Amino acid sequence: MKHLIALAITAGASPLLAQDISLQLPIDCTLGKTCFIQQFTDRDPSDASADFTCGSLSYDGHKGTDFALPTHQDRRAGVAVLAAAGGTVRGVRDGMPDLGLDDTPSEDIEGRDCGNGVVIDHGNGWETQYCHMALGTVSVKTGDTVTAGTPLGQVGFSGRTQFPHLHLSVRQNGEVVDPFAPDTTTCGDSSLSLWAEPISYQPTALYTLGFSDAVPAYDAIKEGLPEPDIARTDPVVLWGYAFGSQPGDVMAFSITGPYGEVFDQEVTLDKQQAQYFRAGGRKAPNGGWPTGRYTGQITLFRDGKVIDKRVTQVEIHR
Ligand SMILES: [Zn+2]
Repeated sequence: MKHLIALAITAGASPLLAQDISLQLPIDCTLGKTCFIQQFTDRDPSDASADFTCGSLSYDGHKGTDFALPTHQDRRAGVAVLAAAGGTVRGVRDGMPDLGLDDTPSEDIEGRDCGNGVVIDHGNGWETQYCHMALGTVSVKTGDTVTAGTPLGQVGFSGRTQFPHLHLSVRQNGEVVDPFAPDTTTCGDSSLSLWAEPISYQPTALYTLGFSDAVPAYDAIKEGLPEPDIARTDPVVLWGYAFGSQPGDVMAFSITGPYGEVFDQEVTLDKQQAQYFRAGGRKAPNGGWPTGRYTGQITLFRDGKVIDKRVTQVEIHR
């Protein structure tokens, strides 16, 4: 009898022991709308990579979760980085420029891949690390006590990074833990997830879309384009910027104007890419476009199923 009780207690307690920490979203944004998880922890021990669903949203050796902002404009507007759980600040770094991997001198990044960042000790061997924060925004110091949700600074573009995002590392006793699925090798098993609120897995999605009077430069899309200004004799272009493509995915563009459909095109993607953009459109007809409101829709298909659909509008003027 004694033995049975002991077993029962162990069975009841084990999920708690396995978790020992509960995490809140470490960034002040709405997942799937104003921010997106572009890369998860790499679960593949070989030099290939896999996220916890055995999907492709990771890269070899990635030791955390990347919460991406669609554009640099979004980053400059200021998005707070938040403590994922309570604890004591164990270390901070600030002072690195928001220039990303390509424009920061390599000797300045060497050994400082995390850029401006914060490490929090949560006790019981657990710690979280927040990377690539914005220059001059780190608002805690070593030894500070924080609670879940305490602002630590803002999302930036410092250190070894190629897009504006927060990298969150979770470790226990120095070992990387994937907060979505610790202690499992079953694809997609998130039963032991460390997140206080479940976070849904988005395999691919549009970051942004918009109208333009020419195919925009990729750098301009990543920066964040201004509101379009399209006259009736201009070409009309619809563009979409997305993450997580797989060969065979389809990006479908449709534009409708005041008198119905003006453009319809499907583009089939031919490779796996972390981020990409595509555009479609046409020149103004003889005599120009009818003025008025135009609606652009981009639909992302995978295996024939709609994965994401977004709509944007523009006023074509004289
Ligand atoms: Zn990362």
